[in-house]
Amino acid sequence: MATNGKAAPAQTGKAYPIVDHTFDVVVVGAGGAGLRATVGCSQAGLRTACITKVFPTRSHTVAAQGGISASLGNMGPDDWRWHMYDTVKGSDWLGDQDAIEYLVRNAPAAVYELEHWGVPFSRTAEGKIYQRPFGGMTTEYGKGTAQRTCAAADRTGHAMLHTLYGQAAKNKTNFFIEYFALDLIMDEEGRCRGVIALDQSTGEIHRFRAAMTILATGGYGRAYFSATSAHTCTGDGNAMVLRAGLALEDMEFVQFHPTGIYGAGCLITEGARGEGGYLTNSEGERFMERYAPSAKDLASRDVVSRSMTMEIRAGRGVGKNKDHIFLHLDHLDPKILHERLPGISESAKIFAGVDVTREPIPVLPTVHYNMGGIPTNYHGEVLTLKDGNPDYVVPGLMAIGEAACVSVHGANRLGSNSLIDLVVFGRAAGLRCAEVIEANGRQPDLPRDSADKALARLDRFRYANGSKPTAELRLDMQKTMQNNCAVFRTGEVLEEGKHLIHQVWSGIDDIRVTDRSMVWNTDLLETLEFDNLIGQAVVTMESAVNRTESRGAHAREDFPDRNDKDWMKHTLAWLDSEGRKVTIDYRPVHTYTMSNDIAYIEPKARVY
Ligand SMILES: Cc1cc2nc3c(=O)[nH]c(=O)nc-3n(C[C@H](O)[C@H](O)[C@H](O)COP(=O)(O)OP(=O)(O)OC[C@H]3O[C@@H](n4cnc5c(N)ncnc54)[C@H](O)[C@@H]3O)c2cc1C
Repeated sequence: MATNGKAAPAQTGKAYPIVDHTFDVVVVGAGGAGLRATVGCSQAGLRTACITKVFPTRSHTVAAQGGISASLGNMGPDDWRWHMYDTVKGSDWLGDQDAIEYLVRNAPAAVYELEHWGVPFSRTAEGKIYQRPFGGMTTEYGKGTAQRTCAAADRTGHAMLHTLYGQAAKNKTNFFIEYFALDLIMDEEGRCRGVIALDQSTGEIHRFRAAMTILATGGYGRAYFSATSAHTCTGDGNAMVLRAGLALEDMEFVQFHPTGIYGAGCLITEGARGEGGYLTNSEGERFMERYAPSAKDLASRDVVSRSMTMEIRAGRGVGKNKDHIFLHLDHLDPKILHERLPGISESAKIFAGVDVTREPIPVLPTVHYNMGGIPTNYHGEVLTLKDGNPDYVVPGLMAIGEAACVSVHGANRLGSNSLIDLVVFGRAAGLRCAEVIEANGRQPDLPRDSADKALARLDRFRYANGSKPTAELRLDMQKTMQNNCAVFRTGEVLEEGKHLIHQVWSGIDDIRVTDRSMVWNTDLLETLEFDNLIGQAVVTMESAVNRTESRGAHAREDFPDRNDKDWMKHTLAWLDSEGRKVTIDYRPVHTYTMSNDIAYIEPKARVY
């Protein structure tokens, strides 16, 4: 492991000796967002460290299948304005339009940059980057279907992540691999001064002092029972932000992907429907034609997930328990399946025992993406509400990728808009760092007690001697979220969920960790992750109880309409761990664009 930062000799603390480092920038996370920011900061000449709890190319970005959106126009006419319109509409008017304009305008350059760095995109006959249609992506402001999703077969994330890792290695980034970040170091003025991490392989504690800390820790899908995301997606950065006394934004908006493989949760990409796949119920009916006569199977994810759930609730689900739906690819040319969807053909075989050329795949809506996260502006700077200013920048702290809420996805993300968010805002964060940070700049000493809180928490769980194993509490949390905070929500179901999730949370006082060692102690690490997840689960549930309207992924049966008058605003939620309480406030949606090249897109009713 290379370290260009100043690695001081170990100081002997009471129980945990600490190794100190100083960098200009510390990036926590090595998924698409973290690696893109790392490359940018390194190229700007800033001493940059990248800390990651898993090997970089094992980050969840590797699993992204369908592709990355950008209005290249390789398969027909396209325009960034149409991409903007679709993203605003997809967000159900909760997205910030200045940030959305920044995203879609920078998208084509970001894709070409990836191409030049070596991503092996699929090609058209003329040798251009291949683009497939994805849900909610249209031409002419909703009139036609856009082919906007650039793909490397159905392994786009894999191709991107390996390329970005290669670029980071080329730029001599200082990687701290299999280091688990525990907590942020915040000073008394509310500035972030770095991060405390645990080296999983030695048990050593490392303190990283930095002028800027960038959280790129991904989503928290694992708060739910059925999720397409990796087991490592525990939203650790979000939880660190909550513990630092800052708010998370729009946590009630959790996206369910319509097609997780029934039972296993593994994803079948939307690209499968983009290539012509369709859904049927127990009567063999292509029911999406009823719910979304125009977009049909390619309506946005919230609409398809809700329609599937309604079919199942109406007794028209398939299978022995009538509790899932079929996805057909069996009418497609096997050659196309082999060329364009090889990965999911393999997943269907392994996880459902299905030969996609002959049989339908059993699927179910499954947690896929967290629209909510750490509030930021489009430079990646973390925001908080201070003295009435909703856009107050927290000094020394940034967030990007799925951990962040910029907010470009608003109440619902369109497929292929996350991968582009990672690279556009990863790049933006690097550019901002180059602007605001002096390379090799002097940094004040850290407060003497800078590691105390993080180590007290570690110590508390390491020696936890209660009666409930972590796995039991985690399962209770996941079941509660799945049953009470999923696709269909009512006041009653959510209130019950709030009671139950608080019950799980209080169970943490009686948690049991059996392994007390410090080296590869998975019992301890999973407990730290559970503690991170439960805080986010509580905030998600309470934000969902609080929002009495339906918007995007947050659909309430008792408040079926979108209510722009009262609710076109972002939720901010703070967590008080000692008092076990959530406090809610709001920030306005940005109803202005970044430039004069496009006017604010006025809210419209949703028609499909
Ligand atoms: C199966 C699947 C398919 C998808 N397909 C697509 C698609 O086709 N198109 C699209 O646009 N989007 C897709 N998405 C969504 C998209 O892939 C993710 O939103 C995105 O990859 C998240 O990237 P990220 O960089 O924010 O985080 P991740 O890739 O999740 O990386 C998180 C990083 O943070 C590190 N980390 C976390 N906690 C800690 C800690 N405590 N200490 C140190 N390091 C830590 C991890 O080690 C990891 O390196 C898909 C998602 C899934 C689950």
